[in-house]
Amino acid sequence: MQGLTAPPAWEAKAKRTLDAVRAAVAASTERVFTMHWTEDAVRDLLLELVGVKCWYCETLIVRADVTVDHYRPKSEVLDVPGHPGYWWLAYDVSNYRIACKHCNSGGARYNGVREGRAKGSQFPLIGGTRARTSVDDVEYEQPLLLDPAHPGDPDLLGFDTAGYARRSNTPYSQAEAKRGLCRADETIRILALNDSHLVPLRSRLMREVGVLARFGDELDIQQLIDDKVGPKAPWSSAAAMALALQRACDRPAAAPAPAATTPCTTPAVDAARSRVDLQDLLEHLDPDNLKAGITLTGRHEKKVHQAVLNDEGQIKVLGRPWRTPTTAARAATGSSKIDGWEFWRLTIAGVEQTLADFRTKHFPHIALT
Ligand SMILES: [Zn+2]
Repeated sequence: MQGLTAPPAWEAKAKRTLDAVRAAVAASTERVFTMHWTEDAVRDLLLELVGVKCWYCETLIVRADVTVDHYRPKSEVLDVPGHPGYWWLAYDVSNYRIACKHCNSGGARYNGVREGRAKGSQFPLIGGTRARTSVDDVEYEQPLLLDPAHPGDPDLLGFDTAGYARRSNTPYSQAEAKRGLCRADETIRILALNDSHLVPLRSRLMREVGVLARFGDELDIQQLIDDKVGPKAPWSSAAAMALALQRACDRPAAAPAPAATTPCTTPAVDAARSRVDLQDLLEHLDPDNLKAGITLTGRHEKKVHQAVLNDEGQIKVLGRPWRTPTTAARAATGSSKIDGWEFWRLTIAGVEQTLADFRTKHFPHIALT
């Protein structure tokens, strides 16, 4: 993304519009964002990079509107009162991402139920300092949503062989550990990346790639594999993961499987982490209960929500597993303002308590901020 240059004529036009927006901001009058980002001059540049597919969910966008999303929303930031939006980036090509309608504005469904608000004007931070004016540096922000155009971010997303997007086997960052949030899980939740239409398609593709790779000595088959894992192919990250898995299986037994494809594990509590996570709690829970699944309940707006904590340290909500209590609580309630440690309650030896209470009891040294 960095270094992408729009044609000079487009740049000049966009600059004039941005100058008008800047003047409107200074005068506190209405800002008018002419949609130059939808013009072919710049959209074709973006499409050239990875083809006609959504940069977030990697679905092909054929015979449907190709939306250019502003990674940092231009006119407002949801849940950040008083933020004017990143208007100064409205015509900055490095802020543009190709997005399908579902990722951009919602519509994804899970088991027939509409879920997620999609990205829209959401731009939560997990840390850092939020930029509010055009002189603030966005480099000080630590976005919660994974950025498909930011080196390293796509690697935090993994896929299991059933086609589900998952957090890859990478350690939590300090900001994630401190906030009790997993960037990959939050991205999956907000963009509904495990939409019930998407998962079977991803799963089938992964099976196909696995089979092709098993019998793939011939040039034609190799070409087919290359097509499926190429950056312009749909769900190519999942295809590449299926290929890596198959290659790992083909290697001698001593060779370790690629890290990103194995089930997620969480590093042990260390000094750099200010909080424990669900995995750390497991040893303090009855293994038999965990095997059967420990019921968690939470209340939000007079409604009771149920979930199950399993022996892998996941909280299952509506059939989907989450790695952090907060993302599980947000997935259950649809609210993005819930702390899952305070929300979820479990009953141990007849005593009902929050996950936060349980954590404090077993990890009293953990600083709660
Ligand atoms: Zn999408």
